[in-house]
Amino acid sequence: MKIVLASGNRGKIKEIKELMVGFEVIAYSDILDKFEIIEDGKTFKENAIIKAKAVYEKLSNKNDIVIADDSGISVDALGGIPGIYSARFAKVGASDKENLNKLIQTLKQNSLTKTKAHYTASIAIATKYGIFTTHGWMYGNVIDKPRGDNGFGYDPMFIPLGYDKTLGELDKKTKEKFSHRSKALKLAKIILEHL
Ligand code: IMP
Repeated sequence: MKIVLASGNRGKIKEIKELMVGFEVIAYSDILDKFEIIEDGKTFKENAIIKAKAVYEKLSNKNDIVIADDSGISVDALGGIPGIYSARFAKVGASDKENLNKLIQTLKQNSLTKTKAHYTASIAIATKYGIFTTHGWMYGNVIDKPRGDNGFGYDPMFIPLGYDKTLGELDKKTKEKFSHRSKALKLAKIILEHL
């Protein structure tokens, strides 16, 4: 049984592979031609299901399992944006750096130097038995000056609760301990072990 990741985001693929010790994990682009998946869901969960189903439908071996992660960051004082639009906050097809800069600019425009935010990860697991979903959250603050190069995406501007460093400054082992993705994957592993 292989686990196929329905993601093209390198940062995510790297983290998920590292967290899924004991499972054979490959990116869908390793076995399928890349194709467009329209993420038009209204929640992280809906988008995770859309991605997992789209890749599962293309698999030739239906005993394989597809895992999709839909995730993002929400800033409380800004009404929860960018939320499900985190990957396309600056524009459709924006790079992680462009999205990070856009969120920094938005904080500055609203005179927010440090303000509450959280990451959400929704994992969808597509299998021959049906679809299963799990979630995980990580709470903290975002700041208007990025620090550090570790992690990916919005990590240089996110300070987890209980820390004074950003995820860009903290090492990956620390992020792994309590990240939204680790928590959602821990639950996903329980489901996988029971299939
Ligand atoms: P998705 O691939 O459509 O789920 O988009 C996820 C978006 O949220 C991308 O912009 C990521 O950079 C961002 N994101 C999700 N998880 C993380 C994380 O752990 N660190 C930093 N950015 C993240």
